[in-house]
Amino acid sequence: MDFSDLSGRSASPSNLVEWLEGETLFSLCSRYHILSQGRTTRETCVDLFGHPSISAYGDFPARLDSFHARTRGELGTPIRIIYEHSILPFFLSVQSESYCEATIAEATRNSPASPRAWRFMRGINDTRFGRIPIYKACSVCMLRDMHCFGVSYWHVEHQIPGVWACTEHRIHLKAVAPKVTPLKCADWRLAETFELTYRPTKDLRFSASHFRFFEICTSYYRCCQAGGMFDFFLVGQILKRRVWEFGFSDNSFDEALTHFESATSALKEIPELFPVLLTLRTRRAILGWIAGAPAMPANPMIFLSVVFWLFSSWSDFERELQLAPVEPR
Ligand SMILES: [Zn+2]
Repeated sequence: MDFSDLSGRSASPSNLVEWLEGETLFSLCSRYHILSQGRTTRETCVDLFGHPSISAYGDFPARLDSFHARTRGELGTPIRIIYEHSILPFFLSVQSESYCEATIAEATRNSPASPRAWRFMRGINDTRFGRIPIYKACSVCMLRDMHCFGVSYWHVEHQIPGVWACTEHRIHLKAVAPKVTPLKCADWRLAETFELTYRPTKDLRFSASHFRFFEICTSYYRCCQAGGMFDFFLVGQILKRRVWEFGFSDNSFDEALTHFESATSALKEIPELFPVLLTLRTRRAILGWIAGAPAMPANPMIFLSVVFWLFSSWSDFERELQLAPVEPR
């Protein structure tokens, strides 16, 4: 890292910052903003993205072509930034290839706005997903990062939807829910400069079930990061077969519904799962989704709650996915 150009406005941003392990784009931008002392948030946006307001609010990747040019390519290609430093892949891996390409193109190109990617990040492309703009951090990771790097940065894996505990330290993530206005200038900040008081899970004591779900979400996200795309024709076959193995058939829908509700009851306090599991109607819809023609779920949480119900772990699901004989389409 070269700090010799700290005061030089013409310096490339990549002279001031380089990626920390598992860091979000928003975090790197926030560190740049702090290191470049005295710039306004709008000036930082212009420095990094060539635009006074379109940026990476809430880790939303936009104008990455411009970011790539302004950092002289030294911080990676737009695709690498999306896949390694944002949670966008979490939403993309259950979409069609053409939809993913269009969304990535919007996040990458030098356009004034990337509405589709923004909607994804905020979950408002699908109202059932809810709108929970949050930044999360683990207090033990923050202390460690401060000790090792002199700064407590935002980790991408702490931002995974559905995950409310650090899977390394197994403690509650602290969170902040800043007011988010779409397409306005980012408020570049690090965990240490926020009061992390947002507790949507209140005083919920996490059980082994919660941690199993957090680990499924985290493993799924890692798979998405590696470019994993799910063939929902095959996934649908595997889910249906596992439901049959549980002893349920087309004639025992209600029994399967009761079993699903009981198995996932501990997860209802997880904010992203409220809209998925809360009502009988939504739970019926999920079982109907498994029983019906295999299709991609609009919401990855539907898929992940079913994996939680039917499999002991993400690797149990993956094993089944690799071994499953494919029936003709
Ligand atoms: Zn931690």
